[in-house]
Amino acid sequence: MTARVLVVDDVLPNVKLLEARLSAEYFDVLTAMNGPEALAICAQGLCDIVLLDVMMPGMDGFEVCTRLKADPATAHIPVVMVTALDQPAARVRGLDAGADDFLTKPVDEIALLARVRSLARLKVVLDELRARADTASTLGVPNASLSTMSDNGTGGRVLVVDDRTGSSERIKGALSKDYQVEVEADPQEALFRAAEGAYDLFVISLGLKDYDGLRLCSQLRSLERTRNLPILMIADVEDRTRILRGLDMGVNDYLLRPVDRNELLARVRTQMRRKRYADALRENVQASIEMAIVDALTGLNNRRYLENHLGGLVDQSVTRRRPVSMMILDIDHFKKVNDTYGHDAGDDVLRQVAQRLRRTVRQADLICRLGGEEFVVVMPDTGIEIATKVAERVRQSVETSLFSIEEGRRSIPVTISVGLAQSDRDRNPDALYKRADRALYRSKNEGRNRVSADAA
Ligand code: GH3
Ligand code: MG
Ligand code: MG
Repeated sequence: MTARVLVVDDVLPNVKLLEARLSAEYFDVLTAMNGPEALAICAQGLCDIVLLDVMMPGMDGFEVCTRLKADPATAHIPVVMVTALDQPAARVRGLDAGADDFLTKPVDEIALLARVRSLARLKVVLDELRARADTASTLGVPNASLSTMSDNGTGGRVLVVDDRTGSSERIKGALSKDYQVEVEADPQEALFRAAEGAYDLFVISLGLKDYDGLRLCSQLRSLERTRNLPILMIADVEDRTRILRGLDMGVNDYLLRPVDRNELLARVRTQMRRKRYADALRENVQASIEMAIVDALTGLNNRRYLENHLGGLVDQSVTRRRPVSMMILDIDHFKKVNDTYGHDAGDDVLRQVAQRLRRTVRQADLICRLGGEEFVVVMPDTGIEIATKVAERVRQSVETSLFSIEEGRRSIPVTISVGLAQSDRDRNPDALYKRADRALYRSKNEGRNRVSADAA
């Protein structure tokens, strides 16, 4: 894992020290000795992570951080504040400025590497998601990321896993105003509850009586349902090694006892915002993938999907010396349905044709709506004789029962015409499509509501 780390500090020896340590771990290091210089480097997109000194003359670290987080072009760059004193007050101010993490001077070498590594990992994931979301927005899917960036991080369900009553009550007390908080003292039970879903964040004590809190963290990281949820560890100063192990296994953050109420709130807020940002991006990506390949009306694959997959399917069959057949079907006099009963009725018919198709062909067949009232089914491992039987079954499934329109108040008959072609040596998918289309044309010409196979 490598990343470009920007070290910002007004004291040269500090810069040199961090630069040496990070370079030794193969990070690319850039340096800046004041705020404006740092902002310029970030604006050019030259760095992946910023290590930011708080105390600097002129523009201090809080202000640099605030500006970075306010600019959509740099808001996603993780910022680690380097505070001179281990002061909760400075931390809270930093978190309010949008800082993602903290290190205390003198900077502990292991903590430095653990934090930088974990942020670099997170950034890779977010960058990837953002890149896909950008593609999505060029396809017309609205980009949710900006609205989520202004999320203030309150609201959501938190599960606190802690068996010391006093401690868990304090944590609950601090968070209850902004979150729905539940406490679970039994870690096994906590895992069950977590697996059922419904939580947005976990606060886990590393000081459980007969159980290693880290084990619970690692289980949460491996469960599908909880893999992406933020985890905050509550630890004692002497838990150092375990804190680092936790961060290495993907725990998002930690707090030291005695837990400072404001720091706890600030860290929970930050994790919630980060989670929602990632969730929004993920949904965005999902929506764009679906929009790109799925027909919204019927839920079938669309023309783009067919164009991308037909070549591969045909190629595979020819290579394996297996036949592949294609069926094109087109609704008869569909225009009349629209003209007589309206466009919504037409849509109902299209959806029901899709439904009947799905029920009639095999799982392995690829069904697409090409657009309009035309559908294609690609049937791997299927010769023309079987394909003709399937096509006939499809034709009958449309003809034999009426189609329900106008919310079930009316039923109308619908028929389809089908064209078929088989490919067993020709790798050209366009030729296959043309032959099937020609057969469809024949079905239309010969009176509709019938199946024709390409003679070739
Ligand atoms: P033929 O038997 O020769 O296939 O006649 P047809 O009326 O089915 O064919 P034509 O191509 O003349 O008309 C297709 C109609 O399908 C015209 C178009 O308005 C309608 N159509 C295309 N897409 C949609 C859609 O998404 N929803 C609805 N309701 N109608 C659509
Ligand atoms: Mg038609
Ligand atoms: Mg048509």
